[in-house]
Amino acid sequence: MRVLSANLGFPRMGANRELKRQVEAFWSGKVTDSALLKVVNELRKDHWVLQKNQLGLDIVPSNDFSLYDQVLDQAFTVGAIPKRYRDVFIKNDDLLPSALEGNMLSTYFAMARGYQQLSTEGSNSPVIDLGAMEMKKWFDTNYHYIVPEFDPTQQFKLTCNKFLEEYKQAKSFGIETRPVLIGPVSLLLLGKASPNSPADFAPIQLLERLLPVYEEIVKQLAEAGTRSIQFDEPCLVQDLDSKLSQSYHEAYSRLSMAAKKSSAEPIKIQLTTYFGNIVPNLSFIFPNLPIDGLHIDLVRAPQQFETVLSAAEKHPTLQLSIGIINGRNIWKTDLSAAFDMVKKAVAVLGADRVIVAPSCSLLHTPHSLDAETGLNPEVKDWLAFSVEKIKEIVLLTKAANNGIDSIKDELEANQRSIQTRRTSPKIHNPAVQERLKSIDHDMIRRRSTFDKRWEKQQEIFKLPDFPTTTIGSFPQTGEVRKARAAFKRGDISQEEYNKFINEEIKKCIQLQEKNDIDVIVHGEFERTDMVEFFGEHLEGYAFTKNGWVQSYGSRCVKPPIIYGDVYRPKPITVEVAKYAQSLTKKPLKGMLTGPDEVTDLEAAGINIIQIDEPALREGLPLRHSEWKEYLDWSVDCCSVADTTQIHTHMCYSDFYDIIDAISRMDADVITIENSRSDLKFLGAESFTYPNEIGPGIYDIHSPRIPSQEEMEHRLKEMLKRLKRNSIWVNPDCGLKTRKWNEVDLALKNMTEVAKKFRTMG
Ligand code: GLN
Ligand code: ZN
Repeated sequence: MRVLSANLGFPRMGANRELKRQVEAFWSGKVTDSALLKVVNELRKDHWVLQKNQLGLDIVPSNDFSLYDQVLDQAFTVGAIPKRYRDVFIKNDDLLPSALEGNMLSTYFAMARGYQQLSTEGSNSPVIDLGAMEMKKWFDTNYHYIVPEFDPTQQFKLTCNKFLEEYKQAKSFGIETRPVLIGPVSLLLLGKASPNSPADFAPIQLLERLLPVYEEIVKQLAEAGTRSIQFDEPCLVQDLDSKLSQSYHEAYSRLSMAAKKSSAEPIKIQLTTYFGNIVPNLSFIFPNLPIDGLHIDLVRAPQQFETVLSAAEKHPTLQLSIGIINGRNIWKTDLSAAFDMVKKAVAVLGADRVIVAPSCSLLHTPHSLDAETGLNPEVKDWLAFSVEKIKEIVLLTKAANNGIDSIKDELEANQRSIQTRRTSPKIHNPAVQERLKSIDHDMIRRRSTFDKRWEKQQEIFKLPDFPTTTIGSFPQTGEVRKARAAFKRGDISQEEYNKFINEEIKKCIQLQEKNDIDVIVHGEFERTDMVEFFGEHLEGYAFTKNGWVQSYGSRCVKPPIIYGDVYRPKPITVEVAKYAQSLTKKPLKGMLTGPDEVTDLEAAGINIIQIDEPALREGLPLRHSEWKEYLDWSVDCCSVADTTQIHTHMCYSDFYDIIDAISRMDADVITIENSRSDLKFLGAESFTYPNEIGPGIYDIHSPRIPSQEEMEHRLKEMLKRLKRNSIWVNPDCGLKTRKWNEVDLALKNMTEVAKKFRTMG
């Protein structure tokens, strides 16, 4: 018997984001669903073959693939399709369960992205108008999942058999896989009650009704020959009500029973946790939960190792999957340190009860380093993406089974990389260390209170009630991307490129003036994206060519790699802001990612400055006990003149629970994403925000044009909780993913609504 290597999930976009391209082509009607599914099948096959045959991984996942989101997949699979989508798309319930194609695919994407069917007679109001379901951050990652909705009268039914299809598909290529499913308890806990549910309803109350569908899933997989199933229960790392212990017990007893009944061969049920420490909830699992395997994240929470090991030791058959390769960063693992952990697990449990795995699904890591031909070789040598991380897992497993000498050369090379990264002069910049020392308390506070600042600002800007603005970016069209690519290739000169950008800025400002927007933005056309653009102008950052990580649906981001002290050699946005301000009499809002450049913009006469902090909530620790330290660290900002109006913007912030810290940032205006979370923060009893606030009035992530009625409705809701003179009217995020005509119509409606409310007393 030997140690096994496993993966928990592979990034699904493809080495060249093939999935993104194909899904988007399908959405825009350029390819049929069968063309989409053909590409999808090829991608899945490639990923299985890569992991199993090329990299030599023992346990390869299936059903980790998704066309949009794995939580949506699971909700869809068990038939949690809200009535409003059902009514439009699903006429005949008898067709279920089926593959995700045709009508089912339309339903699925409508839930993910919303759906709008315009009437043919040229009237502006659509005949069908469905919003997308709420999207929320996946724990403390930058991935966003679709929040399942559950009704008190919810009936579950196996609706889609993608889990089975994928398993069988892999098998047809001779590859045995371990299907991955979001576990039943986490599925309910991650979901929310549908809008008109009674206040005392919580989705977890539906567990009894949900379990038969999961039993059916286990049965079908068992009959198809599955030997093990991975149930993801990440909620186990959160603060949980002790009553949920019963829910876990009920669920996993039933699933284990279903597995036994359906197959003469034993089927292993692996409970998978990640992103944190399970020790506070250890009594949920030990000694009685009838599972065969447990996965723990030892990168995020190494402190749980001893405790879990000794609990596992007493459980005579339990396999422990040790997550020792970081599934969320891009750095090489110190193989020597990781091997010590493998050895320790083997010493306690024996080789046949240890599985070596990434800390979590590799969904959060780019595909592979192969495409990175432009990176500084020294920096590149410190990196490992998904493919390289699987190699590390396979190496550690080999070392565990055949002795450390069996990986001698690889280990030596690895230790050299780890050592140079520790000592490289690329990482330590004395100028930065000096500046850090000079920070004092006065530098991080505003000089006057908000009321005083407001009066002075109002004298200058003379903004009406319900002032309108946008969050910064305007459509990044194919043309903009083409011009940038041409400039980067050297096909057009800096001058030609600047001229092009300036024309876009002009067009953008004209559109805002035409639609009577009060505070103008320049549109961010010069920026690839808000992070990459700044990172490229700072030292200590590296950028990959192809290091894409899925953010939500088909959207990917290329996170910059911070390898050393960050330093800004010269101003980044001042010229563009000055140019844009010269084109309009209205105030122009300068646009920054992070506060480094505020005083330079102020000096250049830009008096409204937005500092984007979309990721503030993202970094928030999963356990409440760690919040204070994080928030103290993150919200201190910089001091500017009273007459400079500081805006900040945050996305996907379930932020009513950190409102105190956000208030302490003391931004004059905060704009926030909210339209996909239904103004939830306003519902929180204690919600107040001391300064001005613009909760997004429509969802920019969907191509549908928001109607005036729906925006009026939102504004009315806001007025119930917020002071009339504290509300800004704005979309919920930047408009870069939209088309010009969509932006034009949406902003027109938005301004109309603001104007209407100004005239109402
Ligand atoms: N200013 C940025 C934009 O409009 C903000 C983006 C974001 O919040 N993610 O694109
Ligand atoms: Zn945003």
